[in-house]
Amino acid sequence: MRGVYCDGSSIRLRRDLPEPVPSDGETLLSVRVVGVCDTDLQLARGYMGFRGVLGHEFVGETDVGIRVAAEINNSCGSCPTCRAGLNTHCPNRTVLGILGHDGAMADRVCVPRVNVHVIPDHVGDHAAVFIEPLAAAFRITEQLALDASVAMAILGDGKLGQLCTWVAQLTGARVTLIGKHLAKLALAGTGVSIATLEESQALARHFDVVADCTGSTTGLATALRLVRPCGTIVLKTTVAGNHAADLSPIVINEVRVIGSRCGPFPKAIAALESGAIDVRPLIGAVFSLDRAEEAFESAAAKGARKVLLEVEAG
Ligand SMILES: [Zn+2]
Ligand SMILES: [Zn+2]
Repeated sequence: MRGVYCDGSSIRLRRDLPEPVPSDGETLLSVRVVGVCDTDLQLARGYMGFRGVLGHEFVGETDVGIRVAAEINNSCGSCPTCRAGLNTHCPNRTVLGILGHDGAMADRVCVPRVNVHVIPDHVGDHAAVFIEPLAAAFRITEQLALDASVAMAILGDGKLGQLCTWVAQLTGARVTLIGKHLAKLALAGTGVSIATLEESQALARHFDVVADCTGSTTGLATALRLVRPCGTIVLKTTVAGNHAADLSPIVINEVRVIGSRCGPFPKAIAALESGAIDVRPLIGAVFSLDRAEEAFESAAAKGARKVLLEVEAG
């Protein structure tokens, strides 16, 4: 089988991978389309020491031709954490294409049956690749009450920043997207205020909620400057390295800081199905699986939009 294999320091397309065999509770899917995520780029450079097939944002097909997406946390379902309903935090979990489980940049992939969600007919494959990251954006709405009374800043004009912006806008919150690139800020669309990082200097202590989607070591320091006293900072991205921030404003201004990771697939699927969110402007390029190495180079270019890999039956 073909697959994009990460050896812990680089990636390459292999054609000699063994066919995946479903373990208990798993089902085998044929992969149709898979996205290259910033996490994949980090894994390819050795982040988390992952060895195996990459890929966690994908559209697959069952043996009877039903198109599906799959949640990425493969939890045990029986430990105290799982029984408390916190499956995404299961200490025994593997994570698809990230931790201890081969991912979907391949002809075929196995996933737990309980993680599978059917994709509605008129959500196309390319849009459906965004279900996983869009679900992560919806996680914020499970953690915080957002409505028209909330002034919210999203830091970072990359893909996750855009998805969080659109999700926050659906709640009625007054959203300002802050980033470095005017062309990418413009993708936010109507109804969203935009500001460059420089312009945000004038917005100190202005926001009830600030979500850091920068993936940068300086994001938290910027968020601490923008959030009002007793406001909330949402950390949405992990950072390769340590945050460079003086934490004393958290105490002095009694700021709440919350972490936010994976979210509800049904909400993401509903938003794509209704057309409430259109992710297609975020797609930069589409490659065939055979050109995966080229696709990774394209995804790693500065300011790249989402790169997709199409997997023809093979
Ligand atoms: Zn991802
Ligand atoms: Zn568990």
